[in-house]
Amino acid sequence: MAEDPDNQQPERIALAYEALRGECPACRAQIKPDWQFCAHCATRLATRCPGCGVPLPPAGSTRCGHCGIELPAPPAA
Ligand SMILES: [Zn+2]
Ligand SMILES: [Zn+2]
Repeated sequence: MAEDPDNQQPERIALAYEALRGECPACRAQIKPDWQFCAHCATRLATRCPGCGVPLPPAGSTRCGHCGIELPAPPAA
């Protein structure tokens, strides 16, 4: 079996947990844990992957790095 891909993205995972604490990693605004995007700056936030439940990498990711499920596109600016 392959290693957990999360271990290969320490910076992204660190940002993911930062978002999970309730703070946008981009603009530092307060966010809610169920938000997939910051309502203040539209940065992708780390929420649980709808496919496998792992914290998602923020900003620019189009697929879960763990299970490969396609993630929703950011809202239009
Ligand atoms: Zn933000
Ligand atoms: Zn997943």
